[in-house]
Amino acid sequence: MRTLTKEIQDKITPSMALRLLQDGNSRFVSNLKYNRNLIQQMNETMDGQHPFAVILSCIDSRTSAELIFDQGLGDVFSIRIAGNILNEDILGSMEFSCKVAGAKIVVVLGHTKCGAIQGACNHVEMGNLTALLKKVHPAIAQTPRTPQNSQGVYSYSDEVAINNVHHVMDEIPLKSPILDNMIQNGEIAVVGGIYDVETGVVKFFEHPHLEHFELEQPVAIVRKSSFEHELISTL
Ligand SMILES: [Zn+2]
Repeated sequence: MRTLTKEIQDKITPSMALRLLQDGNSRFVSNLKYNRNLIQQMNETMDGQHPFAVILSCIDSRTSAELIFDQGLGDVFSIRIAGNILNEDILGSMEFSCKVAGAKIVVVLGHTKCGAIQGACNHVEMGNLTALLKKVHPAIAQTPRTPQNSQGVYSYSDEVAINNVHHVMDEIPLKSPILDNMIQNGEIAVVGGIYDVETGVVKFFEHPHLEHFELEQPVAIVRKSSFEHELISTL
């Protein structure tokens, strides 16, 4: 696995970026990983970084983005906050990642059995956590309780976690004209997904924002191009 250079980063499209993450998660689930020399990667990135993705995920100790997507130094910007909620500081971090540093994909990643989401569902109030958990309320409002999702400790909060990812994805272009513009120009894609803490699998889902990104069958699309295949195999 080569350390990303500006030249390689420039060649990566949003759909290829998604494929790189899907492949990395497949390696993780299979208990495989690229044989990286992290000291070498540290030396190769000492003068700059050219990551291909920015990933917003939860602080949960089981959901480290670099581990679950099998990425090395200089590969991804990792934004972590309880419940993977959005605020203007996080939007600023995403704008830096994409507009300044050239990342090609914004991933909003929720996870199953999320304590923060469960706390929000239970209307937990504690210190500064209260204001953070309030940011999950729109997703709770979008998630009616049903006999099916009310069984088990986590089934309702898992549905809220999914709706929370959708909500954050909706908010990104609404609250960031810079990212909205990049989405419209095809420079970046915003994708959402859920990490299953029982299986290690990240399930990416589709979103209206991506329709013009031909991501309905991302794997098939990436496989179409031998150039992309070649590039991915060199990474
Ligand atoms: Zn969590």
